[in-house]
This record gives sequence, C-alpha cells and structure tokens, in this order.
Amino acid sequence: MNGPRRFPEAAREALGDSQLRANLRRATHTIRDRRAAVVAEIGEWEALREAGRAIKEATMRHLDVHLEALERSVTDRGGVVHWARDAAEANATVARLVHEAGAREVVKVKSLATDEIGLNDALAAEGITAHETDLAELIVQLAHDTPSHILVPAIHRNRAEIAALFRRTLPGAQGVSDEPAALAEAARRFLRERFLGARVGVSGANFAVAQTGTVCVVESEGNGRMCTTLPEVLITVMGIEKVIPSLADLGVMLQLLPRSSTGERMNPYTSLWTGVAPDDGPQAFHLVLLDNGRTDVLADATGRQALHCIRCSACLNVCPVYERTGGHAYGDTYPGPIGAILAPQLHGMRGPTTSLPWASTLCGACADVCPVGIDIPGVLIHLRGRVVAQAARGDVPAGERLGMEAMARVFSSRRRYEAAQRLARAGARPLARGGRIEHRLPGPLAGWTMSRDLPAPPAQTFREWWRAR
Ligand code: SF4
Repeated sequence: MNGPRRFPEAAREALGDSQLRANLRRATHTIRDRRAAVVAEIGEWEALREAGRAIKEATMRHLDVHLEALERSVTDRGGVVHWARDAAEANATVARLVHEAGAREVVKVKSLATDEIGLNDALAAEGITAHETDLAELIVQLAHDTPSHILVPAIHRNRAEIAALFRRTLPGAQGVSDEPAALAEAARRFLRERFLGARVGVSGANFAVAQTGTVCVVESEGNGRMCTTLPEVLITVMGIEKVIPSLADLGVMLQLLPRSSTGERMNPYTSLWTGVAPDDGPQAFHLVLLDNGRTDVLADATGRQALHCIRCSACLNVCPVYERTGGHAYGDTYPGPIGAILAPQLHGMRGPTTSLPWASTLCGACADVCPVGIDIPGVLIHLRGRVVAQAARGDVPAGERLGMEAMARVFSSRRRYEAAQRLARAGARPLARGGRIEHRLPGPLAGWTMSRDLPAPPAQTFREWWRAR
C-alpha cells in the first residue's frame, strides 16, 4: 500500500511498472469475462440485483435493530458477542480471547475486516503468531507485502514470482516449479501442520443472519472450512454492515456474490455456523462486531451506500483506473471503486484517502456490474463535493481562494462573462493552431494541457452569433 501518500503520487509510480500492468490486465480480464458469462445465464439478473439492493437499503435503515437481534440470536445459541468501537478495541478483544484460550498461534481465514484493523501486527505485539491460510493471503504474508485486490490479494504477482517466493520461504519447497498444482501442493503441505496444531481460528464474515445468528463465509479453497471447524475456539471479526435480516435474504446474496466475484454459479465452499454445537466444531464462538467509522458513514444519506457492498470485487475488475494502477496505489485495505468511496469515509474524510474520490474517470462501468446496485459514480461526485466544501471551510491556499472568488464574480455577471470570453480569445490567439492550443499553458493552468489538447476559443461565441443573425 502507498502508506501516507495521496493517490496521484502513488499512481504515478505504479504506472511505471509494466510487469504490474500486464499481471493486472490478464487477471482482471479473465475474471470479468467469467463473470459476464455466468451472469448472462440468468434471465432475471436485474431483478435479483434490485432485490439485493433493496435488502441492503432496508437493513441499513434499521441497522441498530438488526444488530441487536443478531446479538440475541448468537447469545441464545451459545456464542458471545463483543462490540468494538474501533480497531484498538477489536484488536485488544481478539488478543485477550487468544490469551484466555492459552494459545500463541492462530490460523486465519482471509478477512478484510482484520486487514483493516491491522490484527496480525497487533497480535504479533502480544506475542501471538497469525498464520494466513488463504493461498493468496499466505503469499502476501510470506512476501511481507500488502493485499492489492479484495478477492485476489496477490493479483499483482505472477506465478513465476510466487514460485521464487515459495522456494525462498517455505520449508521443503526449494525445488517447487511454477505450475499451479505444484504451488498449491507446497502451500497445502505447509498449511496442513498449522491447521492441525491451532487451538484458535480467526475469521471474517461475508454475512451474518440476525434472525438465526448464523454466520456465513464463502471461499474457494476449503482453508476457511478448516479454520472454522478444527480449532477449539473460533473468533469472527465482522464489520457491522455485514448483518442481514433473514435466511431468505441470505439466499439472494448467495446467488449474487459468487457470480459477481469469482464468476462461479456457487462458491466451492459455503460455510455456515450457528453458535456452538456440543462435540461438533469449535466449543467456543466469539463474534466481534466492528464499527471503526461505519456509524459515521451511516449518517451520510448518500455516502452510506458504500456500506451496502458485499465485497465481490466486480467493480475492481472493470475499472480502467484500477487496471492500470493496481490496488497498492489506493493506500488502503479497500482498493478500486469501492475503496474510493469507502476508505475516505471510514477515515472520517481526513488524510490521504480524501484524494481517492478523484481516482475515477466516472465511466460508470463499476455501477453497471455492482450486484447490489451501488451508484458508485454518484457517491464519488458527492464525496468530491464534501472534500471541496471541507477545504473551503479550512485551509485553502490563498491563490486558489482568490482564483475561485474571481471565477465566481465572472460567472455571476453576463457583462463580465462576455468580457472574459473576449480576453481568453485574444490571449489564446498566439497559442492556437488548427483550432487547438498546442503549447502548454503557463503556471497553475498547465494541468489542463499536461495530458490533453485544449480546444482554442471559437472565433465567435454563440451569443455573438445569435446577435448577428
Ligand atoms: S461496490 Fe459493488 S461491485 Fe464493488 S465490491 Fe462492492 S458489491 Fe462488488
């Protein structure tokens, strides 16, 4: 991830990496083509999307009610619910539970919520080792890297790079080839020992059903099933927006998610568990409900759509900006179009992620594929407005403020507007060739001509033409 850098600087660096762009293009196009094919099989796909959108919208309107219902259902079935206001509270809760279980290691299912709160580092500070068990997450962990895609965290690496990494870091994998089956086998051998030795498993959640207290994790490799069934203690960290009211709603989501994410009709592994069952699976279940800025997002009637996301990653795979920059340039756990609307809000509209609403061409491809109908371009424009309004209240550079005030005066008077047009025409005349300004404009205006042609002002404005008729 780009750390404290803003998107434009981080993106510029990423654009210089041609290997990264090739890796991304191959991977995103493969997944997007698969998605398009399986979505086309369903005649009533649009109706299904609308059902998903309606479920999310209705749930967010009464989120408090559904969360309390979820807490009751989980508690009634032998689980324990913990509320975490922020990352620090969530991390402290998980570390305490691991200590109470007498464990020094945990096995983890891929989980964006735990990436968001930096759980692995927090556990390491407590002397607890977290083993990622999703193949892509394991690659990221072994490389001391950070994820760059919601679904395929190591999408920025090709198999030759992964084979070299395994040879360097996995015991007994010194001679492994870059064939997918060989890489999977090397990872399987390494992970099997971790699964069998772990007393605590940590997972995220794709959905949690308020009506029954059922938690759902979908995945492709079966590692999640191992993490949620083998250890004695299971700890699930879940963003509060993942709750849905009923099992019927889960039925809708489980049709939308696999088609949109992996391009499959259903996920190879869909794990559902409800509290604790005597002598079957973990004998202690803890559900950590994470806020970490979500309640503030909920307060924004337009921005709250970002909480409807089911993390399918379809919007990343069609985004022309993501395809060229990759996920690290976004500097957050949530990259791509969803990251551009979610990350700044989770960070309270402060810091480098406020540059993300501009990390978009507003082409609308993301909204077209979103399985829960999030109007991503609409939210991007709304957030741009919030960032600009915030800046206007605070520390705007004097030059920019004076420029904006001058523009406001010009645009508020027809006489001044027409005078400005005449001035622009006179000023552009020496720079214009064949209807275009071919030279770079000077000073702060240079941004307009840095990467595109600027049309020269016309010889006659519409008003002048109209008057002369
Ligand atoms: S915003 Fe929509 S398309 Fe993007 S990850 Fe979320 S659910 Fe999927």
